[in-house]
Amino acid sequence: MTTPCIICVAITGSLPRKADNPAVPVTVTEQVESTQAAFEAGATICHAHVRNDDETPSSDPDKFAALKEGLEKHCPGMIIQMSTGGRSGAGKTRGGMLPLRPDMASLSVGSNNFPTRVYENPPDLVDWLASEMLAHDVKPEIEAFDLSHILRAKAMYDAGQIKDLPYVQFVMGVKNAMPADREVFDFYIKTVKRLFGEDAPWCAAGIGAQQAVLNDWAISSGGHARTGLEDNIRLDRNTLAPSNAALVARTVAICEKYERPVATWQQARQMLGLRPA
Ligand SMILES: [Zn+2]
Repeated sequence: MTTPCIICVAITGSLPRKADNPAVPVTVTEQVESTQAAFEAGATICHAHVRNDDETPSSDPDKFAALKEGLEKHCPGMIIQMSTGGRSGAGKTRGGMLPLRPDMASLSVGSNNFPTRVYENPPDLVDWLASEMLAHDVKPEIEAFDLSHILRAKAMYDAGQIKDLPYVQFVMGVKNAMPADREVFDFYIKTVKRLFGEDAPWCAAGIGAQQAVLNDWAISSGGHARTGLEDNIRLDRNTLAPSNAALVARTVAICEKYERPVATWQQARQMLGLRPA
């Protein structure tokens, strides 16, 4: 298997705090430093949320703008993907950063349960977020928490709401949503290939201890991989991850195990059909 593997690092997220792992980058300065080390370790997509000074989640476009500026300066070429996830804000505030024209943004196209709440993605908001991404030339990454989300992405693609073939990420291991189930995972791949073509790129993310499991499944199956402190703060049950870069290094090692080269940022941009840096 020779398709290079794109490694995405989800650096911060909305949930983990420094009390959970002091390596979680919270300020923009910390985020840029942590991402630079992860970029040097092999990550080519930075999936980013921003935080307030008290570590609570934010969707402040000014913070996103400062982060984008820092990443463009210190990680030239790296793909910047901003989160429009529902933990960082409500309603249209979730897409307030899209006019900044990041390369990519996450897009959830359906609702499901999260550990302690409903993850609400009502149709009118999904349609609005997709239209903003089209208007600002931002490539969506479809977050598939459920099989129906992959088919919803296909319907949106057919309706012209998504410009290019959808890039789908399978998310597994969120409590009360889809667990890391190998047969479902294989059916997700089959469904992506059926709907979007044999060569359509896809990726996968696992939460907590499932992060390494999903990295292994995705890399060995020809997909792309996500890691980072947003999804998992540990290297193993007893060891906190010392950095995002350490988690990226673990993913690189899995690529080596399966003889998958790690994609350069140029290869990643080309595979995803993104504009040049
Ligand atoms: Zn996220």
